[in-house]
This record gives sequence, C-alpha cells and structure tokens, in this order.
Amino acid sequence: MIILYDDRLIKREEANIDIEDRAYQFGDGIYEVIRVYHGIPFYLNEHLERFQKSADAIRLSLPYPMETLAQKLLDLARENQLEEGNLYLQLSRGTSPRSHAFPSDAKPLIIGYTQPDSRPLTALQNGVTAITDEDIRWLRCDIKSLNLLGAVLAKQKAVDHGAKEAILVRNGTVTEGSSTNIFMVKGQTLWTHPANHFILHGITRKITLQLAEYLGISVKLEPFSPSHLAEADEVFLTSTTMEVCPIVQIDGKAVGNGKPGPITRQLQKAFEKEIERVCQ
Ligand code: PLP
Repeated sequence: MIILYDDRLIKREEANIDIEDRAYQFGDGIYEVIRVYHGIPFYLNEHLERFQKSADAIRLSLPYPMETLAQKLLDLARENQLEEGNLYLQLSRGTSPRSHAFPSDAKPLIIGYTQPDSRPLTALQNGVTAITDEDIRWLRCDIKSLNLLGAVLAKQKAVDHGAKEAILVRNGTVTEGSSTNIFMVKGQTLWTHPANHFILHGITRKITLQLAEYLGISVKLEPFSPSHLAEADEVFLTSTTMEVCPIVQIDGKAVGNGKPGPITRQLQKAFEKEIERVCQ
C-alpha cells in the first residue's frame, strides 16, 4: 500500500513513526475520514475546511498549503486505485522529547492512507441497534482530535451489548453517537443537537440538513432528552462511513414500529442521489 508521509507518497513499510511522536504519546493531533465513491472523494473541500478548523483550534499549523494537501490526497487515492472506501488523514504536532507544553522544535507530521471498504448496505436497509451511555468526553467535541478514548469506551460498551452505536447523553440531553451524529423524528419534525462545542459538526449531518431543507422537512436544531428520544417515531445516525443509517432499537426497545421510518427513507434516497450527483 502507498501512503502519504509528510509530503511524499511512499510504501507503508518505509514509514517511520518515532516513539516520541506527540500523536502517539498525547493524542496531540487531529484527523479526518473522507469517503470515496467511484474513485472520487465525497465533499473533500468540506472535510479539508474542518481539518483546518481543527488545526486552528489546537494551535497547529499545516506543514504545507491546503491545495497541495488536496492534490496529494487525490494522488494517494489514484495510486492505490481506491474505487470504494475511505481516505484517512492525520496531522500530529510532531516529534520532540516528551513534555506536555508545545515543543519549539517539532515539525508537524501529516500521514494519510486508504482503506478499501464497501457501502454498509445491510445496515442501511435494515437499520442498526444502539444503547445510550453517559457522555464522558471533554468539552471540545467540535474538534476532530486524536483523543478518542471517551468514544472508544462508549463504542466498546455498545459492542459488549451487541449494539452498533452508543448514543451519548450529557446533562440530560442527547449529544451525538460515539462516532456519528444522531437525529430523531417526532411527528413531521426532524430534531438534532445544535452545532456547538458538545458535538462534532459532521459533514454528513450538514448534508442531511441541507437535503431536509430541500425536501421541505421541518427541522429543530435543539437538544432533546433521552425520554424524548425513547418516544421518537424514527431515529437515525449519520456519518461519513455509515451515511444516513436507521436506528431501529435503543436499549433493547423498538424505535417506532421497529422498522426504518418514511422520513429516514426519504433522506436516504436523497443522500444516494447526492452521491451519484457528486461522484459520477
Ligand atoms: N460525531 C463524532 C463523534 C464522530 O467521530 C463522527 C465521525 O467520525 C461524526 C459525528 C460524523 O461526522 P462525519 O459525518 O463528518 O463523518
């Protein structure tokens, strides 16, 4: 496999990550996951804009211009003949003798690689199950930081319960999933948490909200409680890898009639059309 290492495309075996890389020791860095359909990255610019925002938020400068990075990612996908899958991109503050404060001498390191992966068609068709769990993450969930331990523990709890996702609850409100954004439908209204410091501003969330507006679905960007969620007619999650995916059971209880609902289906169809429009 060919990977992006700093500004070079090299073989994976040739990469050399130091034991004092700050991503490795502190999780001191940021990342992105970008979906590729038919060999074309989906919403690449939006992902790179969020990458830049995350970098700014942790006071980290990209080692070279964004336009160069965009071109390198296109080259990477082409070199690996990635038709369907993901591009993973990471920026570390670099390598320096271990000490918490920013090093003066470290050079930020970008790495990127590809993961072939097909669309999660069974989950999209049948829906997935979820549990609820306490949101123990830090207060800057809007930064796509490498510090993922809160998400890792929540996801593992879901897996331990035979579920696909953990829906996180902070101070009596549903924030998001461990690696997804959460939407619910009650009556004819779509609800999702507002884009503030408590959630990652998902690119798929943003696309879904645009599609909802286009389809004339009324939207409330307001926090809602777990009991509100338990009474929802429909619930779904969104993410780069899971797209718009129905949640049909939460904490062992069916959502609505236990089947993906009509508004979820409408948004899934519109999302598929968007993929075809952008990546044909
Ligand atoms: N929320 C969290 C915590 C995530 O980690 C992710 C994606 O990894 C998302 C939401 C979905 O974001 P996106 O749609 O940009 O993939």
